[in-house]
Amino acid sequence: MKEKTIDKSNKLHHVCYDIRGPVLEAANAIEAAGQKILKLNIGNPAPFGLYGEEHLRQALIENLHAAQGYGETKGILAAREAIYTENQRNGFQNISVDDIILGNGVSEMIMIAMQALLNNGDEMLVPMPDYPLWTAATRLAGGTAVHYRCDEDNDWNPDIEDIRAKITDNTKGIVIINPNNPTGSVYSRETLLEIAELARENNLIVFSDEIYDKILYDDAKHIPFASLQDDLLVITMNGLSKAYRLAGFRSGWMTISGRKTHAKDYLTGLNMLASMRLCANMQAQFVVPEALNHDKTIYDLTLPTGRLGQRRDVAHRLLNEIEGVSCVQPKGAIYCFAKLDQSKFNIQDDEKMMLDLVTQQHMLLVQGTAFNWDKPDHFRVVFLPDAELMTEALGRLKVFLADYRQ
Ligand code: PLP
Repeated sequence: MKEKTIDKSNKLHHVCYDIRGPVLEAANAIEAAGQKILKLNIGNPAPFGLYGEEHLRQALIENLHAAQGYGETKGILAAREAIYTENQRNGFQNISVDDIILGNGVSEMIMIAMQALLNNGDEMLVPMPDYPLWTAATRLAGGTAVHYRCDEDNDWNPDIEDIRAKITDNTKGIVIINPNNPTGSVYSRETLLEIAELARENNLIVFSDEIYDKILYDDAKHIPFASLQDDLLVITMNGLSKAYRLAGFRSGWMTISGRKTHAKDYLTGLNMLASMRLCANMQAQFVVPEALNHDKTIYDLTLPTGRLGQRRDVAHRLLNEIEGVSCVQPKGAIYCFAKLDQSKFNIQDDEKMMLDLVTQQHMLLVQGTAFNWDKPDHFRVVFLPDAELMTEALGRLKVFLADYRQ
């Protein structure tokens, strides 16, 4: 009898998350064979020595006893109060503690937000390039991710006319990632107001992923979308993974702000899905008040003299020193999204380029198309490593690119 294969569901056919895709598998195979790989592929602060503060780890340890049982679906009150207070301070409009839901990272919140909203064929405007979970979650929920262009020549700001041109009767919402992964762009008030106007005209929900809101360089200022008006439904995502360097604690949240009267059914859907996973990881919830009320260390790290500020400068400078590579200076987050001069490299398949890089130079980056960028001419570098490691890594990239062509 012919053996029946076990296949993944059709729901996954157009879903991809290549940050942890085939290139990483190739790197893991090389490592399994005993060779070391320089990994600049994932925005995970702790492995680069950027650990959470001791008092945050203590908050987790001290509350282990209390964290043994399931908790409230939306999250423990102390955590929601701390988030509420911070949101209030940041000018979020029309919120209460009941408008906050905690989850196992922003990742889970993104999945829940899309699953609760989208019917087959509904469209979601997603930036290009994007943090690809937004596209993947939209598709898994049956929706269509419609990518709007962010403009490299305009500091990677969203192209408002492109957004306008892509709105249809099926568009349910728009995702903005600010500060942006992978470009490091921090959006101006004018840009945000223009997006708000489009959302207002077309009845769109705004999903604002602000997980990097405290990771800002130079004079960059982050403006929470939810602070700009009270007549739009805005769902803001944030969490402990980046600014507090606690990615492994898996703690994130959504705040639902603005106009809600027309969205009661959707909000019921969000609560249903949150209830179905019972509650978020309890231990990490006890860390949230301690982090939000007492931890300002990220501001020192991002100063020009701070570890992140310095690493941003080194990465940006070294990338631009490579012949045929250019990179807009990131104003926020922890990534450079660099461009390859195609008249020189002629890259047709950027995943292949990354595979070749891993094989030849034992270093791991992520190709631009993994961020739904529509041409094979960009790649992302995580600038978490210290100056020495970064210099070593980008030195290897320089050697690789000296004669790499497709
Ligand atoms: N949103 C953005 C823009 C990210 O870059 C990331 C992780 O890199 C996430 C969400 C996921 O965050 P979390 O660790 O809270 O799931």
